[in-house]
Amino acid sequence: MVYDVLIIGGGVIGCTIARELSRYAITTALIEKEGEVGFGTSKANSGIIHGGHHGPPETLKGQLEWEGNQQWDTLCEELGFGFKRIGELTVAMAEDQLATLEKLQDYGTRKGVPGLELWDGDRIQAEEPHISEEAIAALYAPTTGVINPYEACFGLAENAVLNGVALKCDRPVTGIRQEGETWIVETPQETLQGRFILNAAGLYADKIAEMAGVGSFRIRPRKGEEYLLDKRLQGFVKRVIFPCPTAVSKGILVIPTYDGTLMVGPTAEYVDSKEDLTTTAAGGQNVFSHVTQVVPGISPRDCIAEFAGLRAVTDSEDFIIGPSAKRGFINVAGIQSPGLTAAPAIATLLVEILRDEGLSLTHSDDFIPTIPKPIHFASLSTEEQMELAAKDPSYGRIVCRCEFISEGEIRDSIRRGASTLDGIKFRTRAGMGRCQGGFCTGRCMELIQEELGIPLTAITKRGGDSWVARPRHEEVSQSC
Ligand SMILES: Cc1cc2nc3c(=O)[nH]c(=O)nc-3n(C[C@H](O)[C@H](O)[C@H](O)COP(=O)(O)OP(=O)(O)OC[C@H]3O[C@@H](n4cnc5c(N)ncnc54)[C@H](O)[C@@H]3O)c2cc1C
Repeated sequence: MVYDVLIIGGGVIGCTIARELSRYAITTALIEKEGEVGFGTSKANSGIIHGGHHGPPETLKGQLEWEGNQQWDTLCEELGFGFKRIGELTVAMAEDQLATLEKLQDYGTRKGVPGLELWDGDRIQAEEPHISEEAIAALYAPTTGVINPYEACFGLAENAVLNGVALKCDRPVTGIRQEGETWIVETPQETLQGRFILNAAGLYADKIAEMAGVGSFRIRPRKGEEYLLDKRLQGFVKRVIFPCPTAVSKGILVIPTYDGTLMVGPTAEYVDSKEDLTTTAAGGQNVFSHVTQVVPGISPRDCIAEFAGLRAVTDSEDFIIGPSAKRGFINVAGIQSPGLTAAPAIATLLVEILRDEGLSLTHSDDFIPTIPKPIHFASLSTEEQMELAAKDPSYGRIVCRCEFISEGEIRDSIRRGASTLDGIKFRTRAGMGRCQGGFCTGRCMELIQEELGIPLTAITKRGGDSWVARPRHEEVSQSC
């Protein structure tokens, strides 16, 4: 079959585009190299829906940031993932930073971002008493939100599939060629054909463009290390706290995540490898030394987990979105921050680009905008929990004690697409708490085994060869 559109890359960009295209009477396949969607940069970021005022209105990034920001409420309502607008403060610690606050306010005003306010030191102390008393001013933006970015990817992909998109995970694209008007995309498992290719391959978008013979840009990975803090600090700050930004980064932030725990980061360091997801002692020191200048009560001793993500940075620093030199091949590349925020606006833009490029797009009569909202047992009232457990006893059996996650939630996550331990963790939070899966990993593996009918030795942490259990010695010898 020849698909109308092949999307390469199932990060938040590929998933948002797939879901947007599923509104139309066309055929689309979403091709992802990992075992599940959202396992690239889209699961390893700060999870902020930026307020809309960070980027200059002249840049594509700056425009799409605010347009995207405004679409997340509807998406969250339809797809049931975690999102709330908690607001942000960009804090000035010295007189020479005041001009930066005014510049950001000006960007926002020119884009029509509502509610921006300059606060003095007294107002900062009244609203956020744990910010340093040395803070002299701050720009408040009520439009900033926090989101579970991986939940968003899962919800978008699930809804896209419900509306007819073919989801092809575990399919690394290894070759691309054009035969007449048709693009041929090779993966080790199958060959796919399409009229249009959307290159949303994140860090590897330059390689995908090269495969298609339209390589015209280079992507350099810029690493961001993030540090998650103990629940003890829940509520320490109510809003996302930014320092004044620099030329390459928005700085080191204090982020009250959607789930309530605090996170600090990210760093911004170029690295050579697109697979370098290590955290480093230097990175940790950098994060905590900066963050404690603005919020002094935070200490490295509060850190319970850490991770790194890689920004896909092009030489221009702006997004590269649009048709390439070969008809039918369209780049959605260089989507560094605020790519998560901008994703819905990028998807809308892609619909326009595809239409301009000659794809006929008529609305499908069957589009279903919603999926069932996943149950989060821990957030129900005691009465609701008892009622649910009486109806389905699997909700009465707690598997992850740190985060209070029930067997019912884990089974539901597997039935909705989780096939790895990370897939379960990012859908339900099982394994995200203080013991970091020390207690619940074995039970989660048994549940995957039961639900998917695969042996324990085939279960991976995050797909590929990240197996968790080794086959017994005799099985290893036999297979050798
Ligand atoms: C530390 C950090 C913090 C950030 N914080 C924020 C934030 O708070 N707010 C915000 O708006 N933005 C933030 N960003 C930016 C945001 O995370 C990215 O813009 C966004 O996730 C990019 O999504 P993507 O789909 O382009 O990339 P990805 O999520 O990386 O998706 C690309 C996909 O392509 C797949 N792929 C690659 N090669 C192939 C192949 N050969 N075949 C098939 N598939 C392939 C990959 O496996 C991957 O799943 C942050 C980024 C970082 C690194």
